[in-house]
Amino acid sequence: MAQEDYYKVLGVDRNASDQEISKAYRKLAKKYHPDLNHEPGAEEKYKEVNEAYEVLHDKQKRAQYDQFGSAGVNGQGGFGGSQGFGGQGGFGGFSDFGDIFNDIFGGGASRQQVDPTAPQRGQDLDYTLTIDFMDAINGKKTQVSYNRSETCPTCHGTGAEKGTHPITCDKCHGSGYMTITQQSAFGMIQRQVVCDKCHGKGVIIEHPCNTCHGAGTVEGKNTIEVDIPAGIDNGQQLRYEGQGEAGANGGPYGDLYISYRIKPSKEFERRGNTIYTTVPISFAQATLGDEIKVKTVHGEKDLKIPSGTQPNKKFTLRGEGVPYIRGGGNGDQIVTVEVKIPKKVNEKQKEALVDFVKASGESITPQGKGFFERLKEKLNGED
Ligand SMILES: [Zn+2]
Ligand SMILES: [Zn+2]
Repeated sequence: MAQEDYYKVLGVDRNASDQEISKAYRKLAKKYHPDLNHEPGAEEKYKEVNEAYEVLHDKQKRAQYDQFGSAGVNGQGGFGGSQGFGGQGGFGGFSDFGDIFNDIFGGGASRQQVDPTAPQRGQDLDYTLTIDFMDAINGKKTQVSYNRSETCPTCHGTGAEKGTHPITCDKCHGSGYMTITQQSAFGMIQRQVVCDKCHGKGVIIEHPCNTCHGAGTVEGKNTIEVDIPAGIDNGQQLRYEGQGEAGANGGPYGDLYISYRIKPSKEFERRGNTIYTTVPISFAQATLGDEIKVKTVHGEKDLKIPSGTQPNKKFTLRGEGVPYIRGGGNGDQIVTVEVKIPKKVNEKQKEALVDFVKASGESITPQGKGFFERLKEKLNGED
């Protein structure tokens, strides 16, 4: 679109008020509207007027325009020739124009005009797949089946019976819209409505396909092979291209998005790529040290418990956690040791403990009945 001086286009001076700009726009929009003015150049002029108004009636865009010229506003996206007007000569989706259009057309005049026969991409689909804890660690190949619309295999999406073709609608000449004449505040004007013969499709199917009854798509069941990557985490979503719904007019399929849910494990707690476990060890193991077997998601591993290990000490098993989904090894496993205090001890253990206390030079007062009474005496008696 021509980058003219927007103020000149609307015929107002640079200090014009909002009201003056709106007034000038109204006048010019009516004068050049393609439904009202069929002179050559009117349509181009109409677009310029709209472009100028779009900028000048918006405080922020006007300020940017005043400072930087049209480059200041055109880089912003959201308005200009490509989006709203699309070279169709119609009027499009500028919601800000609502009040003005209501004045001119009596409302309902804002919509995007698109070619109804142009290929359109199909809808995306969502699917939730719940998998076992270990399958998320190791990855898994599986199959997923779901319902979706598919391009009709008989007519390949045209909707027409074999050997026939949809014909261009003679009422709207394929545009999907027709022009009607209407009374308005400005007198008789013409406006566009959806074609009542083809219902906006732009084509008429005289002999509809028997399989899809003219829709071009059929309900189908799609089954895909899913290669779940090792390390997938709860809530992650992966895109499977072209596995969504069929497009219209031969357009491409949409995509399928699978959201993964991962069942919890009784043995392992997972946070990201780190695995957390707790292992019980005895008082003697903690004191004297030991080498124990620890369960990891990659099988049993050795863990050295040094002598003098304190309760709740954490050990890191490097690389024993969850694989990184994009490769590059595994996270870690954090093992917390829980020092178990025996709830019951036999007589031999009790005596050994008493000896231990004595060897430590401690004096204790064991609680309990019977045997413990005698132990007390033994402890005190030997002092
Ligand atoms: Zn068909
Ligand atoms: Zn039509």
